[in-house]
Amino acid sequence: MYLGREVIKEYDLDKIAIGTLGSHSALQILHGAKKEGFYTVLITKRDRIHVYREFKHLVDNFIIVDKWSDICKDEVLSELRALNTILIPHGSYIEYVGLKCAEALRLPIFGLRSIFRIEADQKMKMKFLENAGILTPRNYHFGEEIDGLVIVKLPGAKGGKGYFLARTRNEVESKIKELIEKGIIKSADDALIQEYVVGTPAYFHYFYSPILDRVELLGMDIRYETNIDGLRRLPIQTIKSIDIVPSFVVIGNIPMVLRESMLTIVFEYGKKFVEASKKMLPPGIIGPFCLESIVKDDLSIYVFEFSGRIVAGTNLYLHGSPYSYLYWDEPMSMGRRIAREIRMAIEQDSINKVVT
Ligand code: AMP
Repeated sequence: MYLGREVIKEYDLDKIAIGTLGSHSALQILHGAKKEGFYTVLITKRDRIHVYREFKHLVDNFIIVDKWSDICKDEVLSELRALNTILIPHGSYIEYVGLKCAEALRLPIFGLRSIFRIEADQKMKMKFLENAGILTPRNYHFGEEIDGLVIVKLPGAKGGKGYFLARTRNEVESKIKELIEKGIIKSADDALIQEYVVGTPAYFHYFYSPILDRVELLGMDIRYETNIDGLRRLPIQTIKSIDIVPSFVVIGNIPMVLRESMLTIVFEYGKKFVEASKKMLPPGIIGPFCLESIVKDDLSIYVFEFSGRIVAGTNLYLHGSPYSYLYWDEPMSMGRRIAREIRMAIEQDSINKVVT
């Protein structure tokens, strides 16, 4: 039995509040909750409150904490429970509160709690995608001969920080040994050595609705990354002469729409992901998830990463995206879609379908 389903038994479902942490996509989540008529709660640190006060019409109740992990303290939890709060996890949630607190939180969470653990481990994530039957880049073991270009990913790297590219086994080995010596990683096992797929990035925002039992494609984006995206502004000779190392630090998101003929595979992947999550992590994914891919020139789509919750790229579509409009015929952000699902679940007496 999921913790959140135990806790929600004590709630007054006519007075549900939607709560989130002050970061990432909080404004979108609060805005969406308000559009659907919910009371809203924002848990935030003191140094950020001035930002959210600018939007005070979106927040009914501020809960101020000294540290993010205070959300796991009894006094904060009691306050949140007294307000009948359902927590919406976003990209900063696990990073801020830590996996242990995130998993054990005694609050109803909108989404699948058991996917947090997989999300926190790059290797488990890739296994999950492979098991789902989704095309992924090849992964190499440490010491294996490298065929082509690889990207080496470090655990917990924020926005691609510290990743490096390499072409040979020796290059990979010597850089990884250097990282171990510097204490940046503990062992070679910590690094994910992955085929570098040459193509264009595309990030697909899905929403699985347990209430409507359907996968919706609500939007897509491209991440803008420095300096890999800036390098193309320089002539190749200049790049070579000053020996710039490409890096993958995300600084923002750009909207995109896809060639319509490619939607076939995008839907296929979304459905495979949902089915796999139902089998491997019952009851399966709830609400937002994102498949992060590189599209090759033969139009094959390689998924190198996923997120099991709302991604920051959805912040582009506060007023809805060209895709969400097709389903809803009204402005529908991911934040609002979450709130709509909760509202439908309450109306259909099925709240347990959307919280864990
Ligand atoms: P990640 O931390 O896995 O989201 O990766 C950060 C960035 O590195 C991505 O947004 C891509 O630009 C790039 N990247 C990651 N994996 C690959 C890959 N296998 N092939 C090509 N580019 C990649």
